[in-house]
Amino acid sequence: MILNNIDFETYFKNYPDKDGYFGKYGGAYVSPELKKAMEEITEAYFTICKSSKFISELRRIRHDFQGRPTPISHLERLSESLGNVQLYVKREDLNHTGAHKLNHCMGEALLAKYMGKKKVIAETGAGQHGVALATAAAYFGLQCDIYMGAVDIKKQAPNVARMKILGANVIEVTEGLQTLKEAVDAAFNAYMNEYKDAIYCIGSVLGPHPFPLMVRDFQSVIGVEAREQFIGMTGELPDAVVACVGGGSNAMGIFSGFLNDPVDIYGIEPLGRGTTLGDHAASLKYGTEGIMHGFNSIMLKDENGEPAPVYSVASGLDYPSSGPEHAFLHDLGRIKYDVINDEETIDAFFTLSRLEGIIPAIESAHAVAYGMKLAKEMGRGSILINLSGRGDKDMDYIIEKYGIR
Ligand SMILES: *Cc1c(COP(=O)(O)O)cnc(C)c1O
Repeated sequence: MILNNIDFETYFKNYPDKDGYFGKYGGAYVSPELKKAMEEITEAYFTICKSSKFISELRRIRHDFQGRPTPISHLERLSESLGNVQLYVKREDLNHTGAHKLNHCMGEALLAKYMGKKKVIAETGAGQHGVALATAAAYFGLQCDIYMGAVDIKKQAPNVARMKILGANVIEVTEGLQTLKEAVDAAFNAYMNEYKDAIYCIGSVLGPHPFPLMVRDFQSVIGVEAREQFIGMTGELPDAVVACVGGGSNAMGIFSGFLNDPVDIYGIEPLGRGTTLGDHAASLKYGTEGIMHGFNSIMLKDENGEPAPVYSVASGLDYPSSGPEHAFLHDLGRIKYDVINDEETIDAFFTLSRLEGIIPAIESAHAVAYGMKLAKEMGRGSILINLSGRGDKDMDYIIEKYGIR
């Protein structure tokens, strides 16, 4: 497929370029010291990702430890309730630890091991990335330092306990608003001082080059599996593929399998309580170009041009920007980005649970809600939805805020 002079047959070879740019987005806007560390990671990654030993070890881990390939399920009862369109879900909720995040954490930790590093460092907001990385660190016998805002530590007690049980060191960050932004700064600072022995592991297709590239590559297993499985099940490609977009890693993972196909692709952002700045986290829909956390992308800004406060019912989606590759594919028009609000999300959460026996993560329920909407509009055809994670982590919140419907 060729679109605006971009040939998707060779897309992955050309994007990002050697400096980490997808068009004007991406790059590495970091201090000279960190730049050196990023270059070290880039070089190691480019060497290792071509090594058959690294590839076969990652493949073995995915099969024996993570339980891959995850299946695709046909949502027969939900499809029937909506009309003639057939809905399918790629079951990342069945990946070990219950979401797609382990796909890149195992890759990043294996890279750390190959580089001879002894420690992995990361920040976490709601704790999902921290738990996935702590799992990978335990598997490989690496030390694990997770930086987390004091406010988040209080809110996310079960995930803090999980990280500690897995042997991670959870470091409380008490600067500023004591949430994700401050945790990112603290983690980067720690990394700057320790980069000889440690590697920084980002939680999505975000941050300075080479992270958006690396995380996309590690997550692309979702798309590779899904394309083959879907054709195997139905004999054809889906008409549409849908995924939720926070930072954008589960979406890039499944989308990468279908970019060169005649398939409509939809990235779904959280509209939260509404269109007022501060009530949503739909950065691609309402944001403008800007630099934050070491990369150029599309972001939501406040009146001073700083990252704006954002909100979503799904804590994994409340980030004021998205990965640079999403910004690029957005401008190019290859992927359509749309929004789903809290109410539609919660409806889809209960509908999928009741009709299919699958309790989705609230993040993933955004994609399910959009798939349901799209099914009614399309009238016929098939839709593949990436079910990025399971809803166990959201039980207390759902019961407290919405009760049992
Ligand atoms: C973290 C998370 C997301 C959002 O992250 P992306 O990088 O946008 O994929 C989505 N779903 C689940 C279940 C998550 O844990």
